Amino acid sequence: MTKYRNFPMVPRVVFGQGCFKQLGEILLPKRKSSEAPFIFLVDDVFEGHELINSIPLLFNDQIIFISADEEPKTNQVDSLVSQLIQSYTELPSGIIGIGGGTLLDLAKATALMLTNPGSASEYQGWDLIKKPAIYHVGIPTISGTGAEVSRTTVLLGPDKKLGINSDFTPFDQVILDPDLTQGVSTEQWFYTGMDCFIHCVESLNGTFLNAFSQSYGEKALELCKEVYLDSLSEEDSRDKLMMASWHGGMSIAYSQVGVAHAMSYGLSYLLGVKHGIGNCLVFQYLEEFYPEGVALFDQMREKHQIKLPKGICANLSDTEFDTMIKVAMSLEPLWENAVGKEWRKTITPQKLKSIYKKI
Ligand code: NAD
Ligand code: ZN
Repeated sequence: MTKYRNFPMVPRVVFGQGCFKQLGEILLPKRKSSEAPFIFLVDDVFEGHELINSIPLLFNDQIIFISADEEPKTNQVDSLVSQLIQSYTELPSGIIGIGGGTLLDLAKATALMLTNPGSASEYQGWDLIKKPAIYHVGIPTISGTGAEVSRTTVLLGPDKKLGINSDFTPFDQVILDPDLTQGVSTEQWFYTGMDCFIHCVESLNGTFLNAFSQSYGEKALELCKEVYLDSLSEEDSRDKLMMASWHGGMSIAYSQVGVAHAMSYGLSYLLGVKHGIGNCLVFQYLEEFYPEGVALFDQMREKHQIKLPKGICANLSDTEFDTMIKVAMSLEPLWENAVGKEWRKTITPQKLKSIYKKI
Protein backbone atom coordinates (compact mmCIF):
# COMPACT_ATOMS: atom_id res chain seq x y z
CA MET A 1 0.00 0.00 0.00
CA THR A 2 1.27 3.47 -0.82
CA LYS A 3 2.17 5.33 2.34
CA TYR A 4 1.20 8.98 1.95
CA ARG A 5 2.96 11.64 3.93
CA ASN A 6 0.99 13.51 6.53
CA PHE A 7 2.78 16.80 6.73
CA PRO A 8 2.25 19.92 8.82
CA MET A 9 1.50 23.37 7.46
CA VAL A 10 1.86 26.86 8.88
CA PRO A 11 -1.33 27.23 10.95
CA ARG A 12 -1.57 31.03 10.84
CA VAL A 13 -0.65 33.61 8.25
CA VAL A 14 -1.41 37.26 7.74
CA PHE A 15 -0.86 38.89 4.34
CA GLY A 16 -1.03 42.50 3.25
CA GLN A 17 0.90 45.72 2.76
CA GLY A 18 1.70 47.17 6.19
CA CYS A 19 0.50 44.11 8.16
CA PHE A 20 3.83 44.05 10.04
CA LYS A 21 2.25 46.69 12.29
CA GLN A 22 -0.04 43.99 13.69
CA LEU A 23 2.89 42.07 15.15
CA GLY A 24 2.35 43.47 18.66
CA GLU A 25 -1.25 42.33 18.91
CA ILE A 26 -0.35 38.92 17.43
CA LEU A 27 2.41 38.32 19.98
CA LEU A 28 0.60 39.61 23.07
CA PRO A 29 -1.44 36.45 23.83
CA LYS A 30 1.66 34.30 23.27
CA ARG A 31 3.72 35.96 25.99
CA LYS A 32 4.26 33.47 28.82
CA SER A 33 5.40 35.92 31.50
CA SER A 34 7.32 39.15 31.94
CA GLU A 35 10.45 37.01 32.48
CA ALA A 36 10.01 35.08 29.21
CA PRO A 37 11.09 37.44 26.44
CA PHE A 38 10.42 37.52 22.74
CA ILE A 39 13.70 37.30 20.85
CA PHE A 40 13.82 39.03 17.48
CA LEU A 41 16.51 37.72 15.15
CA VAL A 42 16.83 40.46 12.54
CA ASP A 43 18.94 40.72 9.38
CA ASP A 44 21.58 43.36 10.15
CA VAL A 45 20.76 45.12 6.87
CA PHE A 46 17.93 46.66 8.94
CA GLU A 47 20.18 48.15 11.64
CA GLY A 48 19.13 51.81 11.99
CA HIS A 49 16.16 51.24 9.63
CA GLU A 50 12.67 52.53 10.50
CA LEU A 51 11.42 48.92 10.64
CA ILE A 52 13.27 48.52 13.94
CA ASN A 53 11.14 51.23 15.58
CA SER A 54 8.01 49.21 14.73
CA ILE A 55 9.22 46.10 16.56
CA PRO A 56 6.89 45.84 19.58
CA LEU A 57 9.42 45.44 22.42
CA LEU A 58 8.17 44.88 25.99
CA PHE A 59 9.87 43.91 29.28
CA ASN A 60 13.18 42.14 28.58
CA ASP A 61 12.56 41.42 24.88
CA GLN A 62 15.70 41.51 22.80
CA ILE A 63 16.67 42.29 19.21
CA ILE A 64 19.70 40.37 17.94
CA PHE A 65 21.09 41.59 14.62
CA ILE A 66 22.62 38.89 12.45
CA SER A 67 24.45 39.17 9.15
CA ALA A 68 23.07 37.21 6.18
CA ASP A 69 26.41 37.36 4.38
CA GLU A 70 26.99 33.70 5.13
CA GLU A 71 24.47 30.89 5.17
CA PRO A 72 23.43 29.68 8.65
CA LYS A 73 25.63 27.21 10.48
CA THR A 74 24.95 24.62 13.15
CA ASN A 75 27.56 26.10 15.52
CA GLN A 76 25.99 29.55 15.07
CA VAL A 77 22.66 28.09 16.21
CA ASP A 78 24.35 26.33 19.14
CA SER A 79 25.94 29.54 20.37
CA LEU A 80 22.70 31.55 20.00
CA VAL A 81 20.90 28.92 22.05
CA SER A 82 23.49 28.88 24.84
CA GLN A 83 23.55 32.68 24.88
CA LEU A 84 19.75 32.76 25.37
CA ILE A 85 19.77 30.06 28.04
CA GLN A 86 22.48 31.88 30.00
CA SER A 87 20.87 35.33 29.69
CA TYR A 88 17.37 34.52 30.98
CA THR A 89 15.84 32.65 33.88
CA GLU A 90 13.01 31.33 31.68
CA LEU A 91 12.83 29.99 28.14
CA PRO A 92 11.78 32.75 25.70
CA SER A 93 8.10 33.17 24.88
CA GLY A 94 9.06 32.97 21.23
CA ILE A 95 11.60 33.52 18.47
CA ILE A 96 10.79 35.90 15.63
CA GLY A 97 12.93 35.75 12.49
CA ILE A 98 12.93 38.88 10.30
CA GLY A 99 14.86 38.66 7.04
CA GLY A 100 15.47 36.34 4.10
CA GLY A 101 15.91 32.57 4.08
CA THR A 102 19.03 32.92 6.20
CA LEU A 103 17.26 34.60 9.12
CA LEU A 104 14.11 32.49 8.75
CA ASP A 105 16.18 29.31 8.96
CA LEU A 106 18.12 30.61 11.96
CA ALA A 107 14.87 31.43 13.76
CA LYS A 108 13.40 27.99 13.10
CA ALA A 109 16.58 26.22 14.18
CA THR A 110 16.98 28.31 17.35
CA ALA A 111 13.36 27.66 18.35
CA LEU A 112 13.90 23.91 17.87
CA MET A 113 17.21 23.76 19.70
CA LEU A 114 15.92 25.61 22.76
CA THR A 115 13.87 22.51 23.62
CA ASN A 116 15.98 19.70 22.14
CA PRO A 117 19.29 18.78 23.81
CA GLY A 118 22.70 18.68 22.14
CA SER A 119 24.02 20.35 18.99
CA ALA A 120 21.95 21.32 15.95
CA SER A 121 24.29 19.14 13.87
CA GLU A 122 22.85 16.05 15.57
CA TYR A 123 19.45 16.79 14.04
CA GLN A 124 20.41 17.43 10.41
CA GLY A 125 18.36 14.87 8.54
CA TRP A 126 14.77 13.69 8.60
CA ASP A 127 12.54 13.50 11.68
CA LEU A 128 15.29 13.40 14.29
CA ILE A 129 13.69 16.16 16.38
CA LYS A 130 11.67 14.68 19.23
CA LYS A 131 10.25 17.69 21.11
CA PRO A 132 8.13 20.60 19.87
CA ALA A 133 9.98 23.88 19.34
CA ILE A 134 9.10 27.02 21.24
CA TYR A 135 6.65 29.39 19.49
CA HIS A 136 8.28 30.80 16.37
CA VAL A 137 7.27 33.42 13.84
CA GLY A 138 8.66 34.03 10.34
CA ILE A 139 8.63 37.45 8.71
CA PRO A 140 10.24 37.39 5.24
CA THR A 141 11.83 40.58 3.90
CA ILE A 142 12.77 39.11 0.50
CA SER A 143 10.72 36.63 -1.52
CA GLY A 144 11.59 33.37 -3.19
CA THR A 145 13.01 30.62 -0.98
CA GLY A 146 9.73 29.34 0.41
CA ALA A 147 11.52 29.01 3.78
CA GLU A 148 8.45 30.71 5.27
CA VAL A 149 6.31 27.62 4.56
CA SER A 150 8.75 24.73 4.56
CA ARG A 151 9.30 21.99 7.17
CA THR A 152 13.06 22.35 7.00
CA THR A 153 15.81 24.67 8.14
CA VAL A 154 18.94 24.33 6.01
CA LEU A 155 22.19 24.48 7.97
CA LEU A 156 25.85 24.11 7.17
CA GLY A 157 27.23 21.61 9.67
CA PRO A 158 30.71 20.26 10.37
CA ASP A 159 30.37 17.57 7.72
CA LYS A 160 27.32 18.37 5.64
CA LYS A 161 24.88 20.98 4.44
CA LEU A 162 21.51 19.52 5.28
CA GLY A 163 18.19 20.62 6.70
CA ILE A 164 16.59 19.80 10.02
CA ASN A 165 13.43 18.36 8.47
CA SER A 166 10.72 17.74 11.04
CA ASP A 167 7.07 18.21 11.85
CA PHE A 168 8.12 20.75 14.49
CA THR A 169 10.13 22.93 12.09
CA PRO A 170 7.37 24.99 10.36
CA PHE A 171 6.54 28.40 11.78
CA ASP A 172 3.55 28.79 14.11
CA GLN A 173 2.82 32.14 12.51
CA VAL A 174 3.96 33.87 9.33
CA ILE A 175 3.59 37.55 8.57
CA LEU A 176 3.66 38.35 4.86
CA ASP A 177 4.07 42.09 4.44
CA PRO A 178 5.22 42.82 0.87
CA ASP A 179 6.28 46.34 1.93
CA LEU A 180 9.17 44.80 3.86
CA THR A 181 10.75 43.64 0.60
CA GLN A 182 11.38 47.18 -0.59
CA GLY A 183 15.06 47.97 -0.72
CA VAL A 184 16.28 44.61 -2.03
CA SER A 185 18.86 45.14 -4.83
CA THR A 186 17.88 44.08 -8.35
CA GLU A 187 20.50 41.31 -8.39
CA GLN A 188 19.38 39.84 -5.07
CA TRP A 189 15.70 40.18 -6.07
CA PHE A 190 16.53 38.17 -9.18
CA TYR A 191 18.62 35.46 -7.47
CA THR A 192 16.19 34.81 -4.62
CA GLY A 193 13.16 35.07 -6.94
CA MET A 194 14.76 32.57 -9.30
CA ASP A 195 15.01 30.12 -6.40
CA CYS A 196 11.21 30.11 -6.51
CA PHE A 197 11.12 29.84 -10.30
CA ILE A 198 13.54 26.90 -10.16
CA HIS A 199 11.49 25.21 -7.41
CA CYS A 200 8.53 25.30 -9.82
CA VAL A 201 10.46 24.02 -12.83
CA GLU A 202 12.05 21.20 -10.84
CA SER A 203 8.81 20.21 -9.19
CA LEU A 204 6.66 20.39 -12.36
CA ASN A 205 9.19 18.41 -14.40
CA GLY A 206 9.90 15.82 -11.73
CA THR A 207 8.85 12.19 -11.58
CA PHE A 208 7.36 12.79 -8.10
CA LEU A 209 4.77 15.20 -9.50
CA ASN A 210 1.19 14.84 -8.31
CA ALA A 211 -1.93 17.03 -8.47
CA PHE A 212 -1.16 18.58 -5.08
CA SER A 213 2.31 19.80 -6.11
CA GLN A 214 1.21 20.65 -9.61
CA SER A 215 -1.59 22.94 -8.49
CA TYR A 216 0.77 25.01 -6.33
CA GLY A 217 3.68 24.79 -8.79
CA GLU A 218 1.65 25.99 -11.76
CA LYS A 219 0.31 28.96 -9.83
CA ALA A 220 3.77 29.93 -8.60
CA LEU A 221 5.23 29.61 -12.10
CA GLU A 222 2.49 31.82 -13.53
CA LEU A 223 3.18 34.45 -10.86
CA CYS A 224 6.95 34.31 -11.51
CA LYS A 225 6.34 34.86 -15.23
CA GLU A 226 4.17 37.89 -14.46
CA VAL A 227 6.74 39.35 -12.07
CA TYR A 228 9.81 38.82 -14.25
CA LEU A 229 8.40 39.16 -17.78
CA ASP A 230 5.38 41.50 -17.60
CA SER A 231 5.37 45.16 -16.66
CA LEU A 232 3.68 45.19 -13.26
CA SER A 233 3.63 48.10 -10.86
CA GLU A 234 6.24 47.74 -8.10
CA GLU A 235 3.54 47.12 -5.50
CA ASP A 236 1.83 44.46 -7.57
CA SER A 237 5.15 42.83 -8.29
CA ARG A 238 6.09 42.65 -4.59
CA ASP A 239 2.67 41.19 -3.68
CA LYS A 240 2.84 38.58 -6.41
CA LEU A 241 6.41 37.46 -5.76
CA MET A 242 5.59 36.98 -2.09
CA MET A 243 2.68 34.70 -3.01
CA ALA A 244 4.79 32.93 -5.66
CA SER A 245 7.35 32.08 -2.97
CA TRP A 246 4.61 30.66 -0.74
CA HIS A 247 3.12 28.53 -3.52
CA GLY A 248 6.54 27.40 -4.74
CA GLY A 249 7.35 26.23 -1.21
CA MET A 250 4.03 24.38 -0.99
CA SER A 251 4.69 22.73 -4.34
CA ILE A 252 7.99 21.16 -3.27
CA ALA A 253 6.58 20.16 0.12
CA TYR A 254 4.75 17.31 -1.57
CA SER A 255 7.32 16.60 -4.29
CA GLN A 256 11.03 17.42 -4.47
CA VAL A 257 13.52 19.74 -6.12
CA GLY A 258 15.92 18.53 -8.80
CA VAL A 259 19.20 18.92 -10.69
CA ALA A 260 19.93 22.61 -10.04
CA HIS A 261 19.42 22.21 -6.30
CA ALA A 262 21.54 19.05 -6.06
CA MET A 263 24.44 20.69 -7.88
CA SER A 264 24.02 24.02 -6.13
CA TYR A 265 24.44 22.26 -2.77
CA GLY A 266 27.86 21.08 -4.01
CA LEU A 267 28.88 24.64 -4.94
CA SER A 268 27.66 25.93 -1.63
CA TYR A 269 29.41 23.25 0.41
CA LEU A 270 32.80 23.68 -1.24
CA LEU A 271 32.85 27.38 -2.11
CA GLY A 272 30.22 28.94 0.15
CA VAL A 273 28.22 30.10 -2.90
CA LYS A 274 24.81 31.23 -1.67
CA HIS A 275 21.66 29.29 -2.50
CA GLY A 276 19.94 31.73 -4.88
CA ILE A 277 22.92 32.62 -7.05
CA GLY A 278 24.22 29.04 -6.87
CA ASN A 279 20.96 27.74 -8.34
CA CYS A 280 21.17 30.32 -11.15
CA LEU A 281 24.81 29.44 -11.90
CA VAL A 282 23.88 25.79 -12.36
CA PHE A 283 20.44 26.23 -13.93
CA GLN A 284 21.71 28.23 -16.93
CA TYR A 285 23.50 25.05 -18.14
CA LEU A 286 20.62 22.61 -17.63
CA GLU A 287 18.83 22.92 -20.99
CA GLU A 288 19.20 19.17 -21.46
CA PHE A 289 17.03 18.58 -18.35
CA TYR A 290 14.74 21.62 -18.41
CA PRO A 291 14.68 23.06 -21.96
CA GLU A 292 11.62 25.30 -21.54
CA GLY A 293 12.65 26.44 -18.08
CA VAL A 294 16.12 27.45 -19.20
CA ALA A 295 14.73 29.36 -22.20
CA LEU A 296 12.42 31.31 -19.87
CA PHE A 297 15.26 31.88 -17.42
CA ASP A 298 17.40 33.38 -20.21
CA GLN A 299 14.56 35.70 -21.19
CA MET A 300 14.12 36.88 -17.61
CA ARG A 301 17.86 37.35 -17.11
CA GLU A 302 18.12 39.42 -20.28
CA LYS A 303 15.10 41.56 -19.45
CA HIS A 304 16.64 42.52 -16.11
CA GLN A 305 20.21 42.67 -17.43
CA ILE A 306 21.58 40.30 -14.86
CA LYS A 307 25.16 39.25 -15.52
CA LEU A 308 26.01 36.01 -13.76
CA PRO A 309 29.62 35.69 -12.60
CA LYS A 310 31.84 33.44 -14.69
CA GLY A 311 34.84 31.22 -14.00
CA ILE A 312 33.68 30.16 -10.51
CA CYS A 313 35.02 26.63 -11.02
CA ALA A 314 37.89 27.58 -13.36
CA ASN A 315 40.76 26.90 -10.99
CA LEU A 316 39.45 24.00 -8.97
CA SER A 317 41.54 20.85 -8.47
CA ASP A 318 40.27 17.36 -9.28
CA THR A 319 39.86 16.69 -5.56
CA GLU A 320 37.66 19.78 -5.23
CA PHE A 321 35.49 18.74 -8.17
CA ASP A 322 35.17 15.32 -6.54
CA THR A 323 33.98 16.91 -3.29
CA MET A 324 31.25 18.88 -5.08
CA ILE A 325 30.22 15.83 -7.10
CA LYS A 326 30.04 13.69 -3.96
CA VAL A 327 27.81 16.23 -2.19
CA ALA A 328 25.56 16.58 -5.24
CA MET A 329 25.24 12.84 -5.85
CA SER A 330 24.46 12.13 -2.21
CA LEU A 331 21.13 13.93 -2.62
CA GLU A 332 19.45 10.83 -3.97
CA PRO A 333 15.78 11.88 -3.74
CA LEU A 334 16.52 14.99 -5.83
CA TRP A 335 18.03 12.90 -8.63
CA GLU A 336 15.30 10.32 -8.42
CA ASN A 337 12.75 13.10 -8.78
CA ALA A 338 14.62 14.69 -11.68
CA VAL A 339 15.55 11.62 -13.71
CA GLY A 340 13.74 8.62 -12.23
CA LYS A 341 14.72 5.53 -10.23
CA GLU A 342 17.41 4.55 -12.72
CA TRP A 343 19.17 7.91 -12.38
CA ARG A 344 22.59 6.38 -11.69
CA LYS A 345 22.72 5.11 -15.28
CA THR A 346 22.95 8.63 -16.69
CA ILE A 347 24.06 10.82 -13.80
CA THR A 348 27.75 9.95 -13.54
CA PRO A 349 30.62 11.86 -11.91
CA GLN A 350 31.94 12.67 -15.40
CA LYS A 351 28.59 14.11 -16.40
CA LEU A 352 28.44 16.39 -13.35
CA LYS A 353 32.04 17.43 -13.78
CA SER A 354 31.35 18.53 -17.35
CA ILE A 355 28.52 20.80 -16.08
CA TYR A 356 30.53 22.16 -13.13
CA LYS A 357 33.40 22.99 -15.50
CA LYS A 358 31.17 25.40 -17.46
CA ILE A 359 30.37 27.42 -14.30
P1 NAD B 1 19.33 35.83 2.40
O1 NAD B 1 18.57 35.71 3.64
O2 NAD B 1 20.62 35.09 2.33
O3 NAD B 1 19.57 37.35 2.07
C1 NAD B 1 20.17 37.75 0.85
C2 NAD B 1 20.61 39.19 0.91
O4 NAD B 1 19.47 40.04 0.85
C3 NAD B 1 21.33 39.52 2.20
O5 NAD B 1 22.40 40.36 1.89
C4 NAD B 1 20.27 40.26 3.01
O6 NAD B 1 20.86 41.16 3.92
C5 NAD B 1 19.53 40.99 1.92
N1 NAD B 1 18.16 41.42 2.24
C6 NAD B 1 17.14 40.69 2.73
N2 NAD B 1 16.02 41.43 2.83
C7 NAD B 1 16.35 42.67 2.42
C8 NAD B 1 15.62 43.91 2.28
N3 NAD B 1 14.31 43.99 2.54
N4 NAD B 1 16.30 44.99 1.84
C9 NAD B 1 17.62 44.92 1.50
N5 NAD B 1 18.35 43.79 1.59
C10 NAD B 1 17.72 42.68 2.04
O7 NAD B 1 18.49 35.42 1.12
P2 NAD B 1 17.53 34.29 0.65
O8 NAD B 1 17.88 34.05 -0.74
O9 NAD B 1 16.14 34.63 1.02
O10 NAD B 1 17.92 33.03 1.55
C11 NAD B 1 18.95 32.13 1.26
C12 NAD B 1 19.00 31.12 2.38
O11 NAD B 1 17.76 30.43 2.47
C13 NAD B 1 20.06 30.06 2.23
O12 NAD B 1 20.73 29.91 3.46
C14 NAD B 1 19.29 28.80 1.89
O13 NAD B 1 19.91 27.62 2.34
C15 NAD B 1 17.99 29.05 2.61
N6 NAD B 1 16.86 28.33 2.05
C16 NAD B 1 16.03 27.69 2.92
C17 NAD B 1 14.93 27.02 2.47
C18 NAD B 1 14.04 26.33 3.45
O14 NAD B 1 13.06 25.72 3.05
N7 NAD B 1 14.28 26.40 4.73
C19 NAD B 1 14.62 26.99 1.11
C20 NAD B 1 15.47 27.64 0.23
C21 NAD B 1 16.58 28.33 0.71
ZN1 ZN C 1 15.77 26.51 -3.30
